[in-house]
Amino acid sequence: MARAWHLTKRPSGMPTRADVELREFTLPALDDGMVHVRNRWLSVDPYMRGRMNDVKSYVPSFEIGKPMTGGAVGEVVESRDPSFQPGDVVVHMAGWRDEAVEPAGNFNKLPAIPGVEPQAFLGNLGLTGGTAYFGLLDAASAKEGDIVFVSAAAGAVGSAVVQIAKAKGMTVIGSAGGTEKCAFVKSLGADEVIDYKSGPVVKSLAAAAPKGIDVYFDNVGGDHLDAALAVAKQNARFAICGMIEGYNSAEPTCLRYIMRVIAMRIRLQGFIYTDYMGRLGEFYQEMGGWVASGKVKSRDTVIEGLDHTFDAFLGLFTGANTGKMLVKL
Ligand code: NAP
Repeated sequence: MARAWHLTKRPSGMPTRADVELREFTLPALDDGMVHVRNRWLSVDPYMRGRMNDVKSYVPSFEIGKPMTGGAVGEVVESRDPSFQPGDVVVHMAGWRDEAVEPAGNFNKLPAIPGVEPQAFLGNLGLTGGTAYFGLLDAASAKEGDIVFVSAAAGAVGSAVVQIAKAKGMTVIGSAGGTEKCAFVKSLGADEVIDYKSGPVVKSLAAAAPKGIDVYFDNVGGDHLDAALAVAKQNARFAICGMIEGYNSAEPTCLRYIMRVIAMRIRLQGFIYTDYMGRLGEFYQEMGGWVASGKVKSRDTVIEGLDHTFDAFLGLFTGANTGKMLVKL
């Protein structure tokens, strides 16, 4: 029998094991046009927390009593569609489980890029890398010479932002929790790093950016967003990518410096990765080259086994990952 993580109850605050269950489930029949895949890698991502709530958003909520879904890389074991053969490696959205039978149209074969591991298509060449690329270069219109501040800079999206910004000739200030993570961010090329756990981020950022910032790439919200507002230069552009600080909280964030948006003509631009599906070609071209050449490096935190997928997910909210959090099956 296949096994999948099911949502059993909508979490309040930080999710717990009482909200989910790893259950056996019956795979659909392998009818014509269907493909059977055994998953090798599962992605866990902060946005999945929002899908556990019963609210209308840009992506549907998980249904109670049904397997959850998410990014995965797997290998075709059997195919009733001429476009897939056993052994093909595919990326798809039937994650949180060990096996999937889905219509062929739900799977995409991985492009063969020499030297690139399949799991990179869940990280730097997938959702998180694409989010960093389009968020920085399009939503924030970041360009050579800009001073860029990025929060959660040791995470999957953040570590890609740091490296893309450096590849494009920008000055980068990264924030992360703890000295080890800050050293990692520095090793990626960041010019300045802030350990937000060591003191108020508004003070640390003011010291790290005496000339102010042109761009803020927000992964965290809360005090980080406020600190960025406090030091933003005139006409600064903010890519509002995520606000993980608030995902498990019902308390609204208080922004003391929000009025600077007016005086400094700051542009706040929210965006979603899927807005850019029509432009993936340019992303694969440029990012694929950087990943293949080693200019952009991938670091993964790998948790082994389907049974530990939920722990891996929770680890995103406690900073258990450096780089991309992945589950290896
Ligand atoms: P990630 O950064 O790899 O993992 C989450 C990291 O956030 C943790 O490692 C932790 O790092 C930090 N964090 C957790 N709670 C925090 C808190 N209360 N205050 C400060 N930092 C905290 O995750 P990711 O997949 O790359 O996602 C990063 C952000 O991008 C998330 O907000 C996510 O929702 C967003 N996102 C948006 C899109 C989009 O289309 N707009 C797509 C993908 C991701 P530390 O140890 O440094 O605290």
